[in-house]
Amino acid sequence: MASTLIGKRAVVIGAGMSGLTAAGALANRFDQIVVLERDTLPSEPTFRAGTPQARHVHGLLLSGQRALSELFPGFEQDLARAGAVPLRAGLDVRVERPGYDPFPQRDLGWSGYAASRPTIERAVRRRVESHPNTMLRQRCRVTEVMASPDGTVVTGVRCENDTGTSETITADLVVDASGRGALTLALLDSIGRPLPEETTIGIDLGYATCIFSIPDDASTDWKGVMTFGQAPHNSRGGLMLPLEGNRWMATIGGRHGNVPPGDAEGFLTYAKALRTPTIYNAIKHAKRLDGVARYGFPESVRRHFERLDGFPRGLLPIGDAICRFNPVYGQGMSVAALEACLLKRLLRESGETADPIAELASTFFKEMQTLIETPWSVAVLDFAFPETQGQRPADFEATLKFGIALTRIAAEDPAVHKLTLEVQHLLKPLSVYRDPDLLRRVFVKMAEA
Ligand SMILES: Cc1cc2nc3c(=O)[nH]c(=O)nc-3n(C[C@H](O)[C@H](O)[C@H](O)COP(=O)(O)OP(=O)(O)OC[C@H]3O[C@@H](n4cnc5c(N)ncnc54)[C@H](O)[C@@H]3O)c2cc1C
Repeated sequence: MASTLIGKRAVVIGAGMSGLTAAGALANRFDQIVVLERDTLPSEPTFRAGTPQARHVHGLLLSGQRALSELFPGFEQDLARAGAVPLRAGLDVRVERPGYDPFPQRDLGWSGYAASRPTIERAVRRRVESHPNTMLRQRCRVTEVMASPDGTVVTGVRCENDTGTSETITADLVVDASGRGALTLALLDSIGRPLPEETTIGIDLGYATCIFSIPDDASTDWKGVMTFGQAPHNSRGGLMLPLEGNRWMATIGGRHGNVPPGDAEGFLTYAKALRTPTIYNAIKHAKRLDGVARYGFPESVRRHFERLDGFPRGLLPIGDAICRFNPVYGQGMSVAALEACLLKRLLRESGETADPIAELASTFFKEMQTLIETPWSVAVLDFAFPETQGQRPADFEATLKFGIALTRIAAEDPAVHKLTLEVQHLLKPLSVYRDPDLLRRVFVKMAEA
């Protein structure tokens, strides 16, 4: 093992999904990995202040589930033991979209799991804690990433520990998994380097979520429901998934002011006005287990670190610090886990080079573009709503027409249905739609339309 080490200490800022998966990727490559988290980390799967989004539905895509299993072999069994609910892809979640209420439900041959975000995160945290060379320090807020006087090398972090004292921790590598990436931007600014350009898609999304006990007479035709509005006029939608403990988590929301209120009665009224009645009918008499949690998500953001000329050695932003996606598509945790797998591979491949850390960030930024391409192209679909702010792609109308035709074929043909779900779950890249036979069928449908 000693020959595979590339540094003495790595520090990870943040014990969210990106930080924990990054810590898993770094495990055998440094003498010591220290994860610093500002929150108190609960021993039970409960909510905490630093990740307010955890109060809302968190779907785990199959790519994310597989990436987590690659980082932590046997992870799926951990989820099952924690009470996560198995879902047959294509069958167990009723998808309602305009023209298909519901979209054909068929078993496409694989299973995923539904669980609350705290349960998923705690399962990952337990794996990270079990690594003997990894230390998780809670109530420890990083205040600054430190660099050499000329700004070329990151040397560690300064943090405020749980006694309120300021502390300096030296490190060969600092991974910024703090979500917002503010510490990375502050460092670049302080050493006079340019900040990364940003592409933003302003969606102005408002979310509200409630948890219900699943009633005895609940439908047996589905375990979860996804209801889409009708773009461009109706942005209201809902997603209800089962959670551990025989519960449903229902998240409903809309855009540009069309948002749910924060009281229980208002929540039901808003659910009743969704395009289809399935979620409302399921929850109207169900026992509500807590209050209404709300969240506002202004925009998807992609920071173009890959366009920067040079980057301080020993610093790596990851996860939401690089790219934040519209949560409706359920991509963030899975992209975080896929990025951690990429990090693990790059560290393995760079093992023989003289200074594996020197090129790590620039190679990572370059290679993750492929990884982000498909999820970002999904986020771009938000331009179907005319109020969406940002640079609408020139060929967007053609993209929409292509998508409508592809959906029609997927409804008729289980093999194409499976393919589209594999792309949505980030198991296959968008480029699979360029298959000549499929293209021909799509163009025929477009002509018919
Ligand atoms: C409403 C909503 C719903 C979502 N639904 C889904 C979904 O269905 N499926 C999905 O895959 N993704 C979903 N996401 C996205 C997902 O939550 C994130 O993309 C994913 O968890 C990766 O985030 P992260 O770890 O990079 O950052 P975060 O989750 O923000 O974690 C950052 C961590 O860093 C800590 N931290 C911050 N600053 C400091 C500091 N200075 N010092 C120490 N610690 C610090 C925070 O306390 C936190 O623990 C959703 C997001 C939102 C907003």
